[in-house]
Amino acid sequence: MFETPPELADGPLRILVCGYPGKSVCHGGLGWSSVVLLRAAGRVALVDAGNFGMRKLLIEQLSREGLKPSDVTDLLLTHSHYDHSVNWTLFRGARIVVGAVELAWALDEPWGETPVPELYMRTLSDWPTCETVQDGAEVFPGMTAHIAPGHTPGCLIYHLRTPERDVIFTGDAAKNRAELISRDTDMTYDPAVSRATIEMIWSRWRERPGTVVVPGHDLPMILDDDKPRYLGKRAASIRAWFGKDMASQSEIDLTAGV
Ligand SMILES: [Zn+2]
Repeated sequence: MFETPPELADGPLRILVCGYPGKSVCHGGLGWSSVVLLRAAGRVALVDAGNFGMRKLLIEQLSREGLKPSDVTDLLLTHSHYDHSVNWTLFRGARIVVGAVELAWALDEPWGETPVPELYMRTLSDWPTCETVQDGAEVFPGMTAHIAPGHTPGCLIYHLRTPERDVIFTGDAAKNRAELISRDTDMTYDPAVSRATIEMIWSRWRERPGTVVVPGHDLPMILDDDKPRYLGKRAASIRAWFGKDMASQSEIDLTAGV
C-alpha cells in the first residue's frame, strides 16, 4: 500500500496512489499514475483521479483518511488522458477543474485511437460542475494552474504554496525523475515544447528551498544540492496465476533493482 512520505506527513497532502515510472513491454500502456489528496480551508481536493483499475483502491484509500468519494469537493485534473481523468465520474458531485485548452483539444481527438477517453471527456464538457480554467487561474486556496504543453497541448501543472512548503504537481508534463533530469520525454508531440515546459518546472522548483515535486508517474521528490531526491519508498508488484489452482500465486516485485 502507498504511504505518504514522513517529510509530508504533517502537511495537507496524502499520497493515495503513487505513480510508477514504467510501461508494459508487450501490452501497451500501464497507466499507473499518481492520485494525491489535499485538504485545506474545509475543502477536500484530489489532484487527478487515476485509471479504471484504481476505482476500488481509491475508495479504500479515501476510507483510510476517513473520507468517502462524495466528500471530495474539488477534482483538479492535470490533463485528459484516461489514466488521470476517467474516474471523474466517481467524484461527479465535486467541482471538476480541467484546462480550457486541454478540454477543447481532447474533444477534437479522433475516437478510438488515443489515450483520451472520448466519451468521458464529451460528458465532462457538459457536466454542470465542470469548470474550465486558463493559465494562471487560482484553482484551490493557495494553488494556481499553469499551462505546461508538450505531453498534450493543454496539460496543466498545479503550484501549491503553503506556509511550510511549496508543492508542484506536474502530471505528465514531467512524468518521472528521468524526464526531469534529462529534459527528454517519452510521449510528447514536440520534444522542444516539452523541454521548455520542464525548464519552467525547474525554475519553479528552485524558487523556494524545500519545494516538493509530485510527478504523474513517480515518487515525490525534493531538491538536495539541486539534485532530485526521492521521498518515500516505491511500492509496485503484480500477482499472477502460473500454477494449477487459484491458491498458487507468484508475486513479482516491480521495484527490484531500483
Ligand atoms: Zn498522459
